[in-house]
Order: sequence, then C-alpha cells, then structure tokens
Amino acid sequence: MNLHEYQGKELLASYGVKIQRGIVIHSKEEAVEAFRKLKEDTGTDFCVVKAQIHAGGRGKGGGVKLAKNEAELQEHVNSILGMMLKTPQTPGGVDGPGKLVRKVLIAEDSFQPTFDSCKEFYISIMMDRQKKQNVIIYSTEGGMNIEEVAEETPHLVHKEYIDPHLGLQGFQARKIGYNLGLSGAAFKDMVKFIMNLYKAFLGSDASLFEINPCIKSGNDEIIAIDAKVSIDDNALMRHPNLANLRDTDEEDPTEVEAGSYGLNYVNLDGNVGCMVNGAGLAMATMDIIKLSGGSPANFLDVGGTADAERVEKAFRIILRDPNVKAILINIFGGIVRCDRVANGVVEAYKNIGDINVPIIVRLQGTNADIAKDIIDKSGLEVHSAILLKEAAEKVKELIEA
Ligand code: GDP
Ligand code: MN
Repeated sequence: MNLHEYQGKELLASYGVKIQRGIVIHSKEEAVEAFRKLKEDTGTDFCVVKAQIHAGGRGKGGGVKLAKNEAELQEHVNSILGMMLKTPQTPGGVDGPGKLVRKVLIAEDSFQPTFDSCKEFYISIMMDRQKKQNVIIYSTEGGMNIEEVAEETPHLVHKEYIDPHLGLQGFQARKIGYNLGLSGAAFKDMVKFIMNLYKAFLGSDASLFEINPCIKSGNDEIIAIDAKVSIDDNALMRHPNLANLRDTDEEDPTEVEAGSYGLNYVNLDGNVGCMVNGAGLAMATMDIIKLSGGSPANFLDVGGTADAERVEKAFRIILRDPNVKAILINIFGGIVRCDRVANGVVEAYKNIGDINVPIIVRLQGTNADIAKDIIDKSGLEVHSAILLKEAAEKVKELIEA
C-alpha cells in the first residue's frame, strides 16, 4: 500500500526523522489559513505548494511550485488543486490523462534562507530479494533526475547492505555520511537521520522508502523534503493506523471493487482474461497463456471459495475489459468441488447473458469428471479441457480464429 507524501512524512517524523513541515489542505478555502499557520512556525513567507498524488515526478509536471508570498501561494493552489497532473508515473505517462489532484501540501521552503549552501541527496531503502537483505541506496545527486544519474553515472549511486541479524550498524551510517561528503554537524545529523530512517522502515513493515531529496540545510540539518513510502500489504493488520491511511481514490477502481468481493485482481494489458484459484496457479496460468501466444488481460485469484456468486462477479469484472478476446478458467478443486464450480460457471454465464467471447474451462481435482460433463452438456459456448496444455491449445485456437 502506498502512502501520500504527507502521510509518509508524518510516519518518518514519529521516528524522529526531521521533515519539511507542512499542512495538507483539501480545498482552496483552507489555503490562506494554512499558509498563515505555517508562517507562524517558519517566520517566512516562502513556502512550497505540492500536489499529493501517488506518483513521483510531480515537480516536472507542474505539481510542485514555490511561492514567495500569500498571493503567489493562492495562485499556485488554484492551479494545482483540481488539476489533472501528468508525470511519467501517472497512468499512461505524460501522454495519458493524468491524475486528479484532490489534496495539496503547503510546506515550508526548507531551502530558505540559505539556498546556495543547501545540498540535495537521494536515499532509499528496500529489500534486495537476491541478497536476502535490506539495502540503503544513496547518492549525492539527489533531486529530480535520479533515473538519469543511475543510467549515466552509476558510480555515483552507492549501496549499503544490512545484515538482518545485526541490523544497521553505526559504522554503516557513518560510511553513508562520509560518502555523501558531509562533515561536522551535518555529518552527525545524517548519521542520526539514517539510523532513525531505518528504524522507521523496520517498524512500519515498509517495502519501500524513497527520500528524494533529503537536504543538508543552510544550518547543517538533514531534512526529508519528499517521501515515497510503501507498506507491505501483508503486514497492514499489524498497523491499523497505517492501514487507515489507505486512499482508494488513488487506486485502480476495478481493483478496489474486486477486493471488496474478496477477489485478488490486477489489471494487465493482454487479451486473455483468466480466472484462477490460488496465486501460484494464477501465475502458472499466465505463463501458459504467454506460451500459447496470447497475453494475460489480468491476474485474478478467486481464492478458496469459487462459488457461483464469486464466479459471476469475477466474470463481470473480466468482461469489462474491451481487450479480452477469450477467458480461461483454471480451477483446482481441492477444497472446493469441481462440479460446484462448473455449476457456478454455467449459472453465472446464464445470468450475465451476453457473453460473446469464448470461454475455456479447465477444472481439475475432486469431481473433475462430473464437472466436465456439466460444462459439455450446458449447451453454452464453453469449452472444457482437462490438461493445462489442452487448455492452452484451445486458447491459441480461439484467439487466432
Ligand atoms: P517530485 O517531483 O514528485 O519528486 O516532488 P519533490 O517533493 O521531490 O519536489 C520536487 C523538487 O522540488 C525537489 O527535488 C526540490 O528540488 C524542489 N523542492 C521541494 N521542496 C522545496 C523547498 O522547500 N524549497 C525549494 N527551493 N525547492 C523545493
Ligand atoms: Mn522527489
């Protein structure tokens, strides 16, 4: 689950990580009050207006703007709040429709009053699955072009691996501070920053922290200016207050709807819809679709109870995708009986009525033979298959027809 920048920063601050202070607003009317409140804290009219959407690259898309006074602040809030912000990370990229900005963060200008002596850094934490260790990735070249830095000057991007038993060691945090070219108070503050950041990462069961940039301010403080935070969905039950931060406005509406029915659905851009029970079988099914020359239109795990109601909900969701040319249903009847699933498929098919793509059903396991009989005798355009290979060949035949 992804957090908004302002939510991520609050999480960091609760672990003692210094952040760029700010106030989030939902309407233009709240802007001036927020500005004045912030000014009481910062003592300056300078502030920055930041679109809150689940995508990076906002600065380049016009979603982050500096204001030098109240009038400019209002101008920027007017242009950013409610805009369709396009960045390389919004759906369809910069040529796509963009994402509606529903919230704006009014934040202190952390580069004030000593802009020239500020320095931007890049710091992220994630798990390296191959090394089976968390890794801190960092660079002196923080800011808006880190992808290019990694591409063109990879030697400027450093990695520090963390032993899962020992945890992050002080010497490692000092090495990072040193490699970032810091000394004195800034170096000390960076060591603290890194140690607290890592505590926050572990403590929140995060899968990604990306602080780009964090800065060394004019008075040698290390401050997180941006925060991209993803929390491991499987750990959310341990963090009810983080789970509450979920913003479904930022997610694919079909995926959110599927989730409410207990379906694990991910939209993809292929032409073969699939309905499978179990994530492992779903992955294998997607592979077999690829091997047969098609490409999966979605990942869909209907879970343990593939009853008629769920099958129908799943059908309806898959059929909403205009790219779907065929649907492959691949269910293993271990706990659920295949004949029940087969009846569910037939019933759902009849209920929906105007299904005009071929359906291939492979049911294996308990009562598979009865299930095949039910499908074959249904009189519907549903093709049964026993072997996965057979199912794949049918898919190929039908999408090529
Ligand atoms: P992103 O474009 O979505 O990554 O949004 P960021 O929060 O990283 O902001 C983009 C850029 O705006 C940063 O790389 C900074 O250079 C700049 N920026 C952000 N906050 C401030 C600020 O307080 N003062 C100044 N001068 N620049 C800022
Ligand atoms: Mn950023």
